[in-house]
Amino acid sequence: MDALPDFKLLRPTTLDDALKARATNPDSRPLGGGTDLTVNIRRGIVAPAVLIEMNNVAELRAIKADANGIEVGASVTLAELSEHPAVRAHYPVVAQAAHEIAGPTHRVMGTVGGNLCLDTRCIYYNQSEWWRDANNHCLKTTGTMCHVAPKSRGVCFATFSGDLAPAFLTLGAEVDLAGPQGRRTVPLDQIYIGFARQDVPVTETQGDGKFFLALRPGEIVTAVRAKNTPGLRSAYDKIRIRRSIEYPVAGVAVALRRDGDTLADLRVAFTGTNPRPVLLGGTKDLCSRPLDEAFYKGLDDLVRDQVMAMKTTFTPGHYRRRVASVLARRLVTKLFEQP
Ligand SMILES: Cc1cc2nc3c(=O)[nH]c(=O)nc-3n(C[C@H](O)[C@H](O)[C@H](O)COP(=O)(O)OP(=O)(O)OC[C@H]3O[C@@H](n4cnc5c(N)ncnc54)[C@H](O)[C@@H]3O)c2cc1C
Ligand code: SF4
Repeated sequence: MDALPDFKLLRPTTLDDALKARATNPDSRPLGGGTDLTVNIRRGIVAPAVLIEMNNVAELRAIKADANGIEVGASVTLAELSEHPAVRAHYPVVAQAAHEIAGPTHRVMGTVGGNLCLDTRCIYYNQSEWWRDANNHCLKTTGTMCHVAPKSRGVCFATFSGDLAPAFLTLGAEVDLAGPQGRRTVPLDQIYIGFARQDVPVTETQGDGKFFLALRPGEIVTAVRAKNTPGLRSAYDKIRIRRSIEYPVAGVAVALRRDGDTLADLRVAFTGTNPRPVLLGGTKDLCSRPLDEAFYKGLDDLVRDQVMAMKTTFTPGHYRRRVASVLARRLVTKLFEQP
């Protein structure tokens, strides 16, 4: 294991001080629990000169949740979120997703902000410096080509694997952002721009996979929030290689409403498949009907068209797409039949 390089650690206690620290240190990175960032630093993937720890900023540590809505500060830990009684009662998809992340020690350290802004992953990227050196660095770091898709022409397919994003996407969540240019609130799905498309210039709303987060320079996530929808049932499930501690092979969040024997509303979101979490488009057309054979075929078709798993993990892309489809079918059925 490589030694950690030197860096300066700043520990602001107010949001204003954290933002000032970001503005005066353009090459800094926000640090949550460090369960992903310090691993990447140790592997020489990133080498920020300054880390700004967010965990002492009191404004970022609150959970507000009741039957009307949920608001979670960026420095709330995954353990706090998964155990919160009102989150479990009213937003089970969020509590379950938080509970499924990594292992218990990671959940005590890992934060909501760090999970939402988790770096994308790939078997050619999450390796030590010497391994990447020996195997030719890829274009997500200092190389020129993608080993997953050598003809990708500048595009990276590294996979977004955070579990919280799909859960919040099914609730129609927004994120609060703060940075040197001020504060803004945007729909959560707008911060994930890892579309991995070729021949389209990288912009604030369209990334190439290498750029997958629409955060502006110096910007941090301060909170994520959503309104409750009466009658919405929700849940999260994922398949992983080691059940005790592992990123998802594929993860799925489902939220739906039932009206008698028909589906009144359906939202399905995936992680572990694309360079961004995918909120499945077209589910509205599957509503106003029972869960018949045509429904499941329609759901499978949407998954097949929008889930684009590549060989970025040890499990093949086509297997992850199949897992995504099976998980979605299972969870929709379970929630629909829930008394
Ligand atoms: C063995 C192992 C298994 C894991 N399994 C899973 C898993 O199953 N599911 C999963 O989702 N994750 C998993 N992880 C990754 C990680 O533990 C979690 O995603 C965790 O939630 C990351 O949060 P953190 O606070 O530790 O983030 P950090 O490591 O502190 O930060 C992660 C990234 O977010 C940025 N960041 C942090 N806070 C903010 C903020 N407020 N605003 C903007 N950017 C910010 C950092 O700069 C960094 O780029 C695993 C990690 C390990 C080591
Ligand atoms: S998908 Fe390609 S460019 Fe992206 S990390 Fe993997 S090998 Fe590198």
